Amino acid sequence: MYNVKAYSATSATAPLASDTIARRDLTENDVQIEILFCGICHSDLHMVRNEWTGMPTVYPIVPGHEIVGRVTQVGSAVTKFKAGDLAGVGCMVESDGSCPQCKAGFEQFCPNLTLTYNSTDKHMGGVTYGGYSDSIVVDERFVLRVPPNLELPGVAPLLCAGITTYSPLRHWGVTEGKKVGVVGLGGLGHMGVKLAHAMGAHVVVFTTSPDKKEDALRLGADEVVISRNSDEMEKHAGSFDFILDTVSAKHDINAYLNLLARDGNITLVGAPPKPLEVTAFSLIMGRRSLSGSNIGGIAETQEMLDFCGEHNITADVEVIPIQKVNEAYERLVKSDVKYRFSIDMASLKSE
Ligand code: NAP
Ligand code: ZN
Repeated sequence: MYNVKAYSATSATAPLASDTIARRDLTENDVQIEILFCGICHSDLHMVRNEWTGMPTVYPIVPGHEIVGRVTQVGSAVTKFKAGDLAGVGCMVESDGSCPQCKAGFEQFCPNLTLTYNSTDKHMGGVTYGGYSDSIVVDERFVLRVPPNLELPGVAPLLCAGITTYSPLRHWGVTEGKKVGVVGLGGLGHMGVKLAHAMGAHVVVFTTSPDKKEDALRLGADEVVISRNSDEMEKHAGSFDFILDTVSAKHDINAYLNLLARDGNITLVGAPPKPLEVTAFSLIMGRRSLSGSNIGGIAETQEMLDFCGEHNITADVEVIPIQKVNEAYERLVKSDVKYRFSIDMASLKSE
């Protein structure tokens, strides 16, 4: 065991504050990573504030599942990494490897999945601790290779926001010529726009923030709709092949279902704590479907990183020191981030 610096919260109402946590000594399959940048996902905020009833938070919590860093040491059986390599870690750090989900490459649905934080820690007891820290030890099967041409602060968010949007875009066959909507221009949404644009789709952004219009176009949107304007919404009725909904709070999903073409699909990746109401007729008319998606498997996460390397795609980030993390959470609640906070972990050294 060794100690590392971290930021943790001790209750749903306590601010994140400096702490010391223990990491395990390396087993033969482990990779030790010095964390350089960690993105702030809205899921971190939902978890720190214990907003999801189905997933109670265990305190203290050290959040962070958008991790990029440099390998400092590897176990004797590790083959994919050596000290000095760049490495990424996302939302998962272990799974059973033997269930049908794992065998099919869908580790994210493994019944024995270990999440990067707030999951039972099979090695140390207690719960796992995430990336708002100096260093982490992860089984090499859950460590990703990072394309060398990408800027690291903007790579970190690819490990959650990137894969969470890439996976459903691929699953629902987004290619050139498809009309794709992205609802909510936050961390996930802006990655959805960049990726769908790179896949050749005609991308329409739905935003509640008129001041994000110019950015949306710069990020790769072909059109921008201010979703509170019903006339603007009406113009797109019945026209979308696919809509990706990234909104973090309760909103009217029927307004978007009605924009789908026949057999169109809307996929929820946003995880509002309160239920969304669906009118049967929004689905019945046009044989439309509503589904969800959870991050992506490890092989697909690597595919996404390689795709981003080829297309030179990273997140647009505001780099902050860890000492500004509570302020960043307040801004996240107000949708005031362009478009992801990325914590420079060098700032932890002064704690
Ligand atoms: P974020 O950066 O805060 O972005 C959310 C965006 O939703 C905001 O920027 C805003 O966009 C829009 N929005 C917020 N409140 C709204 C409201 N009341 N009505 C309508 N629109 C609203 O959050 P994020 O990190 O992208 O995460 C988004 C959601 O995805 C969270 O619930 C998170 O937990 C979830 N998530 C799910 C997965 C998964 O695997 N399924 C993975 C990661 C995150 P505009 O200003 O453009 O309207
Ligand atoms: Zn996330």
